[in-house]
Amino acid sequence: MQLTITNLNKTYSNGVHAINNVNLTINQGMFGLLGPNGAGKSSLMRTIATLQEADSGSIMLGEINVLTQKDDVRKTLGYLPQEFGVYPKIDAITLLDHLAVLKGITHKAERKELVESLLQKTNLWEARTKNLGGYSGGMKQRFGIAQALIASPKLIIVDEPTAGLDPAERNRFLNLLSELGENTIVILSTHIVEDVKELCSDMAIINRGQVLYKGNPFDAMAQL
Ligand code: ADP
Ligand code: ADP
Repeated sequence: MQLTITNLNKTYSNGVHAINNVNLTINQGMFGLLGPNGAGKSSLMRTIATLQEADSGSIMLGEINVLTQKDDVRKTLGYLPQEFGVYPKIDAITLLDHLAVLKGITHKAERKELVESLLQKTNLWEARTKNLGGYSGGMKQRFGIAQALIASPKLIIVDEPTAGLDPAERNRFLNLLSELGENTIVILSTHIVEDVKELCSDMAIINRGQVLYKGNPFDAMAQL
């Protein structure tokens, strides 16, 4: 499965050309989208995540036309926005179980197994009965991953995840992301070079809505 973006454009009503003729092919594994604040990363991520319209161009996720078949994309999408909110007065195990019900997993034993494996995987098992309002920033981000994984997504979009995390939490979160990679397209949007350098096999650099570089991080850094 590939994500293919072709001649994509978006100009906001204030005249900002936030996505400027973007062409990208993104394979399974970790893809880094690197660019400074205001480069157009969130605009591109929101468009891929079916949360906003493009003016022209196309986005294909395998056979799915992302701009027109929104429901099909949403079924297979995990999206962690920059400001990820959690319900403060519910604990992780209860909320994940509820979300699994909403995803149509009706068998209690099946849900229990899934929820427990997600809590283990995201290193939240110890904190499973603690209210989410008491979680640290890093715990919230990891919970976001657990929540996203309930849908067995083929595409996971993570927008500026490490902003505000301390170094230990940052490493923990990035390692978790890298474990999801193999059969999934994971797009990591960030302004931090190290996040991309450490984890991504493929990347693009964008600024002012335009793709300035596509390739692997090593070649990119060699050019800096
Ligand atoms: P719409 O024009 O589609 O109604 P909004 O103006 O409500 O969109 O903005 C959608 C999102 O974009 C909101 O989260 C808003 O805070 C953000 N936003 C709006 N204008 C800007 C801007 N100039 N730069 C960055 N983000 C913006
Ligand atoms: P990044 O995620 O790389 O910081 P954004 O996609 O948020 O970049 O913003 C790209 C450009 O588009 C910026 O100039 C920003 O101010 C502008 N912008 C973002 N959202 C909106 C919006 N809803 N309305 C108007 N301008 C916006």
